[in-house]
Amino acid sequence: MPFIKKMTVLQRTVVWLIAIAIIFFMLLLSIIWELKQSILQGHDPTTSLIVLYFIGVSIVIGLIIKVFRSFERPIIELTENAMKIAEGNYNVHFNIDQYDVEWQLLMGIFNDMSSETRRKIEQLNSQNEVLFTYKEQIEELNQRLSKKIQIKSKQLEGYVEIIDQYVITSQTDLYGNITYASEAFCKISGYTKEELIGKNHRLIRHPDMPKELFEELWRTISSGQMWHGEIKNRKSDGGDYWVDTTITPNVEEGVIIGYTAIRHDISDKKMIEEMAITDSMTGLYNRRFYVQIISEEMNRIKRHRSSLVLMMLDVDNFKLYNDNYGHQAGDIVLNQVANVLKFYTSRSGEYAFRLGGEEFAVLVSDMNEEGYLALAERIRRAIEMLEIHHKKNDASAFVTVSIGVAIYYHDSMITCEELYKESDNQLYRAKDNGRNQVAIQSERT
Ligand code: GH3
Ligand code: MG
Ligand code: MG
Repeated sequence: MPFIKKMTVLQRTVVWLIAIAIIFFMLLLSIIWELKQSILQGHDPTTSLIVLYFIGVSIVIGLIIKVFRSFERPIIELTENAMKIAEGNYNVHFNIDQYDVEWQLLMGIFNDMSSETRRKIEQLNSQNEVLFTYKEQIEELNQRLSKKIQIKSKQLEGYVEIIDQYVITSQTDLYGNITYASEAFCKISGYTKEELIGKNHRLIRHPDMPKELFEELWRTISSGQMWHGEIKNRKSDGGDYWVDTTITPNVEEGVIIGYTAIRHDISDKKMIEEMAITDSMTGLYNRRFYVQIISEEMNRIKRHRSSLVLMMLDVDNFKLYNDNYGHQAGDIVLNQVANVLKFYTSRSGEYAFRLGGEEFAVLVSDMNEEGYLALAERIRRAIEMLEIHHKKNDASAFVTVSIGVAIYYHDSMITCEELYKESDNQLYRAKDNGRNQVAIQSERT
């Protein structure tokens, strides 16, 4: 009966109640009718009344049960389907035609809800699948990347090992305390890593290197600049080696946290260079180096507003010494004289030269006239005090030298040739005055 389906619950309930009332009324009429018939015909109505009563009551109970069932069924089904959804089964669908209008609305909403949820779940599942493939791709990429990193790390370790073995490198903190030293650095310096790390870099500094060089070096690197130059370092056994050095500040977030020095060994090159400027017999600098250094020193004096002295030394009556004691003995004398000169020019910026034959020169700076004269006198006396017998020397019983002294001041207007000439003139003055003495120019040039 489709019209019943279209009724609301209330309407249907009213219909059912009316039906029950009608049945009840008809039952009542039947009972009255039966009673009347029994009275008229004069027989006992009990049996037929009981039968009628039971039929009527059964019909009414049946109808009431049906009414209740019609309320209960959609609730039970709704609960069952809700439980299915709760368990993750979204394939739930109500055939809404079976239900009352109100239920149809609710079931319809329920159907929409479950199909929307199902759609969303399907959408999520497909997105999940895409995500899963991405995840797999990412995992694969990750694996490839880890492998690459592993290979690169191994390569890097290899490079670090090579650097450690073959690059003379070290790192220091801001104060020059060594924080890292490569194996190659240990090899060339003669120190172990343990002996170097924690020590100040001064440990390897050679006294021959001028302190101005290190001042300039520190000025440069502490201002964040790179420094490059050639340095002579001291070995653990007291020997030395030359390195071409580059020092770079280590900067972290704009702040210098230390320095890295990379060097390469140039000892061989320096040895050749040194040979080129060294007199092979005495080990003093030769004339070539004198020519090179004198103008550099004169320029430095000008810049520093200081002074230098050029002393010219010549062994007295040396020809006679050779004639008397032999040329070989003469060579020994020249070496002894050279050793005295080395002794008095041991600091950086002080030079002793063998200009040729038995002629020497000394170049010292940053003293006053008295200091220069005193030094010349000390050298003269020290040579005589060697007490090398020289019978034919008319100036002494021993080997002596005459010394000519010329001073160059920062404001002097003379050239290096004129300075040389002046020193030579003074040397001849010392010779003329009787040898074994120091002569100095009387007027400042
Ligand atoms: P003076 O006091 O005037 O300087 O007299 P002198 O004899 O030293 O003067 P001179 O310059 O005439 O003589 C220098 C001598 O030095 C000549 C040479 O025999 C000697 N002589 C030069 N070079 C060497 C050398 O390498 N070894 C030796 N043993 N003698 C040398
Ligand atoms: Mg001479
Ligand atoms: Mg001489």
